Amino acid sequence: MNQCIEGLALSPGIGMGPVFRLRHLMFEVSGRKLEPEEAALELGRLEAACREVAAVLHGMEDSAAREALLAMLESPLFHGSITDRIQSGRTAADAVVQTVNDLAVIFGELPDPVLRARAGQAEEVGRHLFRQLHGLPIPLFRSGSPVVIVTDEMSAFDATRLQPGLVAGIVCERGGVTSHLAIIIKQIGIPAVSGIHGALGRFEDGELCICDGEKGVVLAAPDENALQAVRDRLAGISADRAGLAALAARRTATRDGKPIGLWGNIAGPADIQAILDAGGTGVGMFRTEFVFVGDEAPSEERQAYIYEDILSRVPGPVVMRTLEAGGDKTIPYLAGEAEENPNLGWQGLRMCLDIPDLFLTQLRAMIRASRAGELWIMFPFVSALWELRECRRLVAEADAAVRRDGVRPGDYKVGIMVEVPSAAVMAKEYLRDFDFCSIGTNDLTQFTLAADRMNPKVARWYDPFHPAVLRLIALTAHAAERAGKPIGMAGDMASNPLAIPVLIGLGFSSLSATAPRIPEVKKTILTVDSEEARHLARSVLALEDADQVKACLRGEAVKGARDAASSGADAPPAQSR
Ligand code: PEP
Ligand code: MG
Repeated sequence: MNQCIEGLALSPGIGMGPVFRLRHLMFEVSGRKLEPEEAALELGRLEAACREVAAVLHGMEDSAAREALLAMLESPLFHGSITDRIQSGRTAADAVVQTVNDLAVIFGELPDPVLRARAGQAEEVGRHLFRQLHGLPIPLFRSGSPVVIVTDEMSAFDATRLQPGLVAGIVCERGGVTSHLAIIIKQIGIPAVSGIHGALGRFEDGELCICDGEKGVVLAAPDENALQAVRDRLAGISADRAGLAALAARRTATRDGKPIGLWGNIAGPADIQAILDAGGTGVGMFRTEFVFVGDEAPSEERQAYIYEDILSRVPGPVVMRTLEAGGDKTIPYLAGEAEENPNLGWQGLRMCLDIPDLFLTQLRAMIRASRAGELWIMFPFVSALWELRECRRLVAEADAAVRRDGVRPGDYKVGIMVEVPSAAVMAKEYLRDFDFCSIGTNDLTQFTLAADRMNPKVARWYDPFHPAVLRLIALTAHAAERAGKPIGMAGDMASNPLAIPVLIGLGFSSLSATAPRIPEVKKTILTVDSEEARHLARSVLALEDADQVKACLRGEAVKGARDAASSGADAPPAQSR
């Protein structure tokens, strides 16, 4: 009873429910060849797996999706190709992967959207079959009480498909606090804990467990007292939320009246309403890579439709970050060769500059949509001036192409994201030809401190309150202030109540958070005095380690700190006014 397992708090909230174990499985070919006498056995395994998958699909509530997937499962093209491959010596699992890949190409190229959708259906059915052939449960959540998913690993893209009403919590082995998995789960509002070593082996399917994303612990086999304690805390959390919700209609400004843009981070149109309901008035970062999930890059028309939809529904600015794929955001059809250090490799802006057609299509779609609202285009992961010149040239080219098509774009801004230390150091020069900047502290922290944001093992080294990170932020803020250009923050630090006074003191004009965090960010902003915040920023910039910084921000006496006035000479200045 009451077995408490400590991990890392990945996403706030507390959830309880029966465990559903989900093993992450790479959907790829093993290359194993069958002995001739194995083929019959493998065909039998395939048929058994097909029956299981059909049974699960029959239970789906959405009848149109159910019929489409069953038709695919039984179609000669899908089923026949798999059996042919088994007969020519492939394992059933390999035959499934190869068939899905083939059909993705065949259907994915077709102009008719109904036929093109078959590529996705083949993939969905193929993945179910693949899991079944590996003896793993099929992740279709049909009904019943919400489950706590226990998994070794989950991709951020998979997480976007989770329905919060059906998932009470997520317990996983891998995933750092600012990993993309964490970002998406926080956005959806599902409590999560990571860093649970050997997670799949520590729980049984169906056993009751509590996932405490506030404290970063998982409680297996809770007794009645523990359950009651959780119910009480859940009641407290909803009372707090109700109190915060009352702030939604208030204007966001510091105590002394300085307005601060309170914006939200989104992965797509579905996230907008939650941002607006929480009191957000703009989008501080639209992670457009989520538009690119699937079998092929979306067309210019499709992208323009999505961008226009978002722009027309948001009353304030919408900062659209151009495609950031690669690193820990793998999009299969854009994946290059395996890299030793993907986070330092061919990703983000680098990939876009190397595939100009893809990049120009996105830029044209954004510019085409710009009439619908207040568009701010933002380039991520910048690390060199030549890239920025190239970006400017491509924006001009895309703009001209849109005008040639007879479309008159609206006014839009073009800015940069500072998330690589070189961009912070060079912010003065990089901002010269751009209209705004936004700091991505999730990456800036990992690159400054050489601590992988994905890896819970190095969580101790990954700390945005490290003075080196703070000084780079201050350097950028100072450059933005001198250039008279707005600076915002869309990294996780922007929603940390401890950091908010410092950011305001450094001159940030907007903060962007996931919808569930917006009310608390607002509550904090309303309590800050901007003059006091300037002094506070100056004091923390003089400190020497993250613990001192956090103690100072909590208002505690700082042990071992030198006098701010005498020791701050090397630190960049806080905003002068
Ligand atoms: C960041 O790096 O802080 C950021 C906001 O971008 P992402 O988390 O998508 O890398
Ligand atoms: Mg980033």
